[in-house]
Amino acid sequence: MFVVMRTAATEAEVLGVKSRILAEGLTPYEHAGESGLQLAVVGELGDRRAALLEELAALPGVERVTPINRPFKLTSREFHPEDTVIRVLDAAVGDGSLTVMAGPCSVENRDQLMTTAVEVKAHGATILRGGAFKPRTSPYAFQGLGVEALRYLAEARDMTGLPVITEVMEPNQVDIVADYADILQIGTRNMQNYSLLQAVGRVARPVMLKRGYGATIEEWLMAAEYIVSSGNPSVILCERGIRTFETYTRNTLDLAAVPLLHRLTHLPVIVDPSHATGKRWLVPPLALGGVAVGADGVMVEVHPDPDSALSDAEQQLNFTEFEALMRELPPVHEHVRELRNGTSFVPGHVDAPAGGGLSKH
Ligand code: PEP
Ligand code: MN
Repeated sequence: MFVVMRTAATEAEVLGVKSRILAEGLTPYEHAGESGLQLAVVGELGDRRAALLEELAALPGVERVTPINRPFKLTSREFHPEDTVIRVLDAAVGDGSLTVMAGPCSVENRDQLMTTAVEVKAHGATILRGGAFKPRTSPYAFQGLGVEALRYLAEARDMTGLPVITEVMEPNQVDIVADYADILQIGTRNMQNYSLLQAVGRVARPVMLKRGYGATIEEWLMAAEYIVSSGNPSVILCERGIRTFETYTRNTLDLAAVPLLHRLTHLPVIVDPSHATGKRWLVPPLALGGVAVGADGVMVEVHPDPDSALSDAEQQLNFTEFEALMRELPPVHEHVRELRNGTSFVPGHVDAPAGGGLSKH
């Protein structure tokens, strides 16, 4: 439930409400937005719900208490109606600008990364990507350069001014990755690695949470909820395709997730057409599609010589292909935003998932 405080509520009244919530063994989370101060009451309420709702509603300074049936609270639009904007160096994600994260699947050597960084920046990328620790399906495949790659990423950031994003695979890597990178990425295979989610929830770096390839939107938002409730409000969601019966593409890009998420949550949404399709020629049309349905940006893999790449060779764009995509993407983004009066978020109600969602599991 959310406790909406009166505009004129005093600090003492807010404290009074918070202490009452804490006394129940629950946690109050604060959001001061355009419509005033709200406190989310988070924790297992059980059959105390109705009585507590009434009790809180009667406390001084309280305007009203709204029950919320969704399992995700802090990531919900109801709690935080304004879009979350994530600022990192000169880039902003979720502010209406077009975010383009580009770079190689894996950092393979210094020269490969520096060349790519300069090229993608020249064509309008706003964030540089590159894998240092690679989650490979085969234990025999290239696993990434690790800390050496983190050093190259930091050097590329210093050279180009682009913030860098890279994946962190284990809780014990979080500190070292956060020392070098500006944004931490949680990969599809780790979306439900709860100790990792809590660990990235405790650092002062934005996190991009990729959708688990078998995860529902609700499970994905609950994973984001782990990060936010651990103390880190700067979460970006990335739709990177889910596994279906289709085999022509590596995954199936769920474009409906984008406008759906914009209704359900205030967090920015990025589309990754590279991992979604696994095929180079499908990346540009689906990047355009992602932006057309209102994504805050895209993540695309770019390599100086994709055919020789040590990972994901078939889906990486070369520089010419990236340049061509970057001629088309900004005008589509601009046009869609103009049509929607500057917002990608179309407000409205969303029913609970068919079958009742998480409550049934
Ligand atoms: C990646 O972006 O480097 C990656 C491994 O993607 P995913 O986790 O979506 O497979
Ligand atoms: Mn890849």
